[in-house]
Amino acid sequence: MAERRLRVIHLYPELLNLYGDSGNILVLRKRMEWRGIACHVDEVHVGELPSLAGADLVFIGGGSDREQTIVCESLQAARSELVSYVEDGGVLLAVCGGYQLLGHSYTMGEQEVPGLSLVDLYTDRGSPRLIGNVCVRSRISKQPIVGYENHGGRTHLGDGVESLGTVVRGYGNDGQSGEEGCLYKNVVGTYVHGPLLPKNPGVADWLLARALERRYGQCDLVPLDDAEELEANRVMYERLTTGTD
Ligand code: GLN
Repeated sequence: MAERRLRVIHLYPELLNLYGDSGNILVLRKRMEWRGIACHVDEVHVGELPSLAGADLVFIGGGSDREQTIVCESLQAARSELVSYVEDGGVLLAVCGGYQLLGHSYTMGEQEVPGLSLVDLYTDRGSPRLIGNVCVRSRISKQPIVGYENHGGRTHLGDGVESLGTVVRGYGNDGQSGEEGCLYKNVVGTYVHGPLLPKNPGVADWLLARALERRYGQCDLVPLDDAEELEANRVMYERLTTGTD
């Protein structure tokens, strides 16, 4: 089989990298490498305009309110390209601050940070911050999604927007709806840091499968030996559901 390759775009790594979010890129890289899929990562820095030509997977990490406000201008300049990419089935993972920026706006009292309106959702800042370990059941992963959340924002999904999953433990989108994250076409938005993908290999493979499908029309992903990851996931799930974390 001819060599397969995927191009990953990492937006604003120097500013959007809370709680090790860049570890998600390491996982994507390794899981491709182990399967003989060439991985090319392009970092886009603040002030640069991302070129999404040939992009297979876009990653936006989390950031504080301040950092979100800084990147928002650069992101707005890339909005129409991002809209076309998403509508065309482009794969995108956004965590926490990055997730909030997928929506229409992030409102902090008087101040409103405009979002990309890639997904019909909006966020406003509430009190207290929603902090702690989190566990979510999602149709994109056989194992429960486990991780850590820390956000002031409360995210509200528009009618008909699917959540990433339901909260088993923790707060999720707003601490009330019982829903966590969003799933729109091949876009995953989530509050789960950890980083997300090392703790949840099923989510990593869902993203890779969608990217391969889109580029090559098929997604035969060779299974990997995830014994250690799955055991860690199981132990964490047990702790979170028995309240012993
Ligand atoms: N600034 C956002 C909030 O506090 C996102 C924080 C984060 O990315 N962890 O809601």
